[in-house]
Amino acid sequence: MVWDIDRLTRTPAELETLIDLAEAHGVALASVGGEVDLGTPQGRLTARIKGSVARHEVEQSSRRLKRKFLERAESGLSHGKVAYGYVREPVIDETGTVRGYTELLHPEQAAVIQTATKRILAGEPLRAVASALNETGSMSPSGKPWSGTTLRQVLLRDRNAGRRVHQKQVIGKGNWPAILDDDSFDRLVALLRDPRRRTGNNGGVKHLLSGIAICGNCGERLRGAAEHRYGKKKQPRSYACQNCYKVRRKADAVDEVVEALVIARLERPDAADLFAGDSDAMTRATSEKLAIEARLDLLADQFADGLITGSQLERGTARLRPKLAEVEAQIIAASPSPEYAELVGPGVRARWEGQSLDRKRAVIDALMRVTVLPSGAGQRFSPEQVEFEWSL
Ligand SMILES: [Zn+2]
Repeated sequence: MVWDIDRLTRTPAELETLIDLAEAHGVALASVGGEVDLGTPQGRLTARIKGSVARHEVEQSSRRLKRKFLERAESGLSHGKVAYGYVREPVIDETGTVRGYTELLHPEQAAVIQTATKRILAGEPLRAVASALNETGSMSPSGKPWSGTTLRQVLLRDRNAGRRVHQKQVIGKGNWPAILDDDSFDRLVALLRDPRRRTGNNGGVKHLLSGIAICGNCGERLRGAAEHRYGKKKQPRSYACQNCYKVRRKADAVDEVVEALVIARLERPDAADLFAGDSDAMTRATSEKLAIEARLDLLADQFADGLITGSQLERGTARLRPKLAEVEAQIIAASPSPEYAELVGPGVRARWEGQSLDRKRAVIDALMRVTVLPSGAGQRFSPEQVEFEWSL
């Protein structure tokens, strides 16, 4: 007994199987919405008709919904809940009837997205930006405090650049105002998706060169250690190699050398070029990226059309993914960093001192490679023990 024959099966093939079974076992099937006995030819015909009508309705309604979404997508209207950064206002005609909705910027929320983007492009870690937002009393879309993860999700939305997305593909411009310009948004996406981006512990880094300076003995990254007591002796803040234990230097002394180098570099007349990027390399890497993405799309199409198997698809994409990551890294390396441009020019020292620790770290990391050489026991620190190489 079923409520209605529509509920019994939704596909004609299922119904045929059921009819065969009913026939083989002499079972009478009954439905509340009109008795259907699959044991009689008339009953089977009724069932087939009702079944195919129900199936047609399922297809129609999902197609209707999909078409509606696509139409809205193509016309640049948004559907669903209003996104963070926006407010939706009704469009009312002269008769007072609501004709649709228009999206406007939510001034405070849009400002949160803009500020967070600027700070992340300037090298601050997501978590640090999230906690800075929480200190201002700002709340994430769910009404809870921001976390690095929620902030990342909000910042990576194509709609923030005014781009309309349908089924994960950008299909054009939306009819809402953009919060971020295309350039900032593209750089932000490249940065947040950068596989080399160190995630995790960055939020709590307290030492300028922790994880940046390299051990001159083994090549590992040095870690900072706060001032502490060891027995009766006071140990100063230091950078140490936790891999070979051959390098341990007073952090203040190393920081002083490195900061002096950076300031001297930023004071030079050609310093503005440092952060201008390399547009030729950028063009090369971008076209290579598009080519790889086209090949990935082609593989997906071939798989969808049954021309290649799932394992061929997997092998093909596994070969292309590392190449994609590589060119994305090249794009980041070649992109201009206007956020740093304001550091350059006369009076660098004062501006440098006004920077946050995260931002200083980002500049040092971009600008140079710092290696701290091992020294004999008890040997006093000398600036020559800090080796450096400019990367820009
Ligand atoms: Zn080492």
